[in-house]
Amino acid sequence: RHRNALTKTRPLLKAKQGPVRSSANVRVVVRVRPPNERESGDNSRHVVKIVDDQVLIFDPKINSQAFFYHGVEQKGRDLLRKANKDLQFMFDKVFGYESSNAEIFESTTKNLINSLMDGYNCSVFAYGATGAGKTYTMIGNNDNPGITFLTMAELFKARENLQGERSFELGISYIEVYNEMVQDLLNPGAPLQLRDDGRYGVMVAGIKVHKIDNPDELFALLDKGNSNRTQHPTDANAESSRSHAVFQVYIQMEMKSTREVRAAKLSMIDLAGSERGSVTGYGGARFAEGANINKSLLALGNCINSLADGQRYIPYRDSKLTRLLKDSLGGNCQTVMVANVSPSSLSYDDTYNTLKYATRAKKIKSDVKKNVVNVELHVGEYVKIVEELKKELEKV
Ligand code: ADP
Ligand code: MG
Repeated sequence: RHRNALTKTRPLLKAKQGPVRSSANVRVVVRVRPPNERESGDNSRHVVKIVDDQVLIFDPKINSQAFFYHGVEQKGRDLLRKANKDLQFMFDKVFGYESSNAEIFESTTKNLINSLMDGYNCSVFAYGATGAGKTYTMIGNNDNPGITFLTMAELFKARENLQGERSFELGISYIEVYNEMVQDLLNPGAPLQLRDDGRYGVMVAGIKVHKIDNPDELFALLDKGNSNRTQHPTDANAESSRSHAVFQVYIQMEMKSTREVRAAKLSMIDLAGSERGSVTGYGGARFAEGANINKSLLALGNCINSLADGQRYIPYRDSKLTRLLKDSLGGNCQTVMVANVSPSSLSYDDTYNTLKYATRAKKIKSDVKKNVVNVELHVGEYVKIVEELKKELEKV
């Protein structure tokens, strides 16, 4: 069966793990997008108040205003019950209406580049309800490219700067998880299966990993993948809101002087809309399950809860997405979450749930380890893996 040496979710080489660098927390930032036209109307008011670059207050002064909510009485009463408290939330960073993708990049994924160069896995999640700004943050548009583009441009810059001391190999894959089916966005066809490989961990069987040498090749592939998403990524419609887009970059570096080989993986994920997957509580409670609930998103929430509680068993196996991202969440990975919210009372519940979810994610600690192998000690294995890798890359 087709086995792609690049497409595993464990470190690329069967690496002797370096020393634990540190116990790193997941970095969680919140982005409040500007109100849209509908949210600027009479029956909307702002329920998110940014206090400073780390603190926001949710639901300021709800009591006097609760009746505005859609003019629906029950909803107003429900909201009132929750009210009476201006909830203060603190994150690693809070971004307001005026923030650009470049600013988000500066304080989120830009910092990951050094870690990748050192051989640590990294991942970035955009979380939030449909219409909250996830795709805008990840992909953006021509005038305001998203953090996926900005991060990759930075990665190429780093490669350029380090080319004298090390050689690089870069490969990418771009897939979508929709209805618990995995699709290759760069090579659409029949759904792909996940396979547990004794040696490499969970892999997408038959996925195409594209070797890339320059930014133009990369950006062309990203555009192609984006246009193959279940619906055009900027449409806030039912289909696109239920799909997860997972963009992964596999980096292999060989240091010229020491022949030390480092491997790292970067995963950038535009998650499905969170509107059906609200957190039921802080105490590690499971998410409510129901027919319409996105299984992968629920499983991700449960994994985050378990990781945040420091439990030993993490239910990665419960969904395609969490199986796939097992090594991109907690464990040996530096993770950034961008939680996207609307500022408006029209998205009251979604915003509240997203803020709670993001607060849970903040509690995750992971022991990040370097994916390093010393060639002198592992020559046989290294040569074998590199051969395998070459064969795979030739097929691409
Ligand atoms: P999601 O992917 O979370 O469903 P989108 O990213 O598609 O949401 O955003 C919904 C709409 O809001 C889009 O039209 C998008 O262009 C706009 N939008 C989102 N975030 C911002 C922002 N920070 N500034 C300006 N417009 C935004
Ligand atoms: Mg979207």
